[in-house]
Amino acid sequence: MKLPLLRRTAPLSHWKSPLSFPSSTSPHRHFFVSLSRAVVRSLYQRRCLCSKMAMSQVVVREPDLLDRKKASIRNAGTSKLQVIADFDGTLTKYWCNGARGQTSHGLLQQGNAEYDAKRQMLYDYYHPLEISPSIPIEEKTKLMEEWWEKTHGLLIEGGLTYDAIKKSVADATISFRDGVVQLFEFLEEKDIPVVIFSAGLADIIEEVFRQKLHRSFKNIKVVSNRMQFDERGCLVAFKGKTIHVFNKNEHAIDMAAPIHDEFGNLDGSDVNGTFVKDRTNILLLGDGLGDLGMSDGVSFENRIAVGFLNSNIEKSLKDYSEAFDIVYLNDASMWGVFNLVSELCSTNQ
Ligand SMILES: [Mg+2]
Repeated sequence: MKLPLLRRTAPLSHWKSPLSFPSSTSPHRHFFVSLSRAVVRSLYQRRCLCSKMAMSQVVVREPDLLDRKKASIRNAGTSKLQVIADFDGTLTKYWCNGARGQTSHGLLQQGNAEYDAKRQMLYDYYHPLEISPSIPIEEKTKLMEEWWEKTHGLLIEGGLTYDAIKKSVADATISFRDGVVQLFEFLEEKDIPVVIFSAGLADIIEEVFRQKLHRSFKNIKVVSNRMQFDERGCLVAFKGKTIHVFNKNEHAIDMAAPIHDEFGNLDGSDVNGTFVKDRTNILLLGDGLGDLGMSDGVSFENRIAVGFLNSNIEKSLKDYSEAFDIVYLNDASMWGVFNLVSELCSTNQ
């Protein structure tokens, strides 16, 4: 088994590991990168045995490969770069004020206890099927469509209003990771588009942006399930095809409903995704292995995949470190990604 190389890319103020590996700009870097497998294995095993994995912040399994990708992306320039991000547990914290952070779907309270309970019953039935390792993906896809459509039906039947969404977000335990705002500001300044893919609800995600960040970003588009309200603010329908966990990828841009016209410049004029299709370098941010599929609709030249491993760290680290180029552990901040993007956009390397 190839073992992950632990490496620091986060700024010192955010680095909690007792292991002090130098940054990529250090003249000593090559020494550390070429540490023998035995030494790395020894460090790795000791950390596992001592259950100290939780203390490390970031894992890069193949630093040389990552460096090559970084150099290619930097050389191609910012006009070729796009960011594709998952929302829940990626842009938002897994833990929020000591409690498990809510998801954009999970925070919704219809203001109708009967229907909230009905949606919970659907969750209790379908969620185990979603994560079951024994159900083939085609079957799961059908089940997920069933689940999403039943849930959307309940939201309409139960009389969801936009006011209930606003109240749900105001009452929710949800917040963005530290550094997300600065990351978005930097990307906006560089004209780098960000596509947020979510199997949740676009209207809720946008309300979270409004209430938690109090601002919009002209470079950000949310591709998710979008609601249609009548003049009284009551939900009457969903627009476009249902986006669920197994079809959440750049093909979804084509089937998604027009982007909300009251949020930044998300005016629906580019719903076919042309604003990202010619950007063949991708920085992908996700917190689940399935999030890697978000770039499936793009024939990319380079992709750096960053994974946030929020729970079950010791059990999942091997899979994550093999699937993602960089893995941040323990509900890390977004500062490491901010530094990475700064590097990718630098012209002085
Ligand atoms: Mg997620």
